[in-house]
Amino acid sequence: MPVINVMEEIVRNALAEHKDQLQLSCTCERCMDDVLAISLNRLQPRYIVNEETSPFVRASYTADRQGAANIISTVFQAAKIVSENKRCSNKEVEIT
Ligand SMILES: [Zn+2]
Repeated sequence: MPVINVMEEIVRNALAEHKDQLQLSCTCERCMDDVLAISLNRLQPRYIVNEETSPFVRASYTADRQGAANIISTVFQAAKIVSENKRCSNKEVEIT
């Protein structure tokens, strides 16, 4: 049985949902992955064994407004860090 971190799915969704508001200096795959990784390092992981329980855990998070707000705020902080410390090779944004 694979063990998966439901938080990864939640953060991926939050990222996709708020992509336009994150004010990222670059939205390439590398930078988006960096935002995801930084966010996941800061958030409490939620591991589950069976993927079938995933919707339940997700529902418990959306019901918990404090938890959801914390996740969004962590994603925004991560986006700021990545925007200021880009590690991809897209340099054109910095020149302008
Ligand atoms: Zn980039």
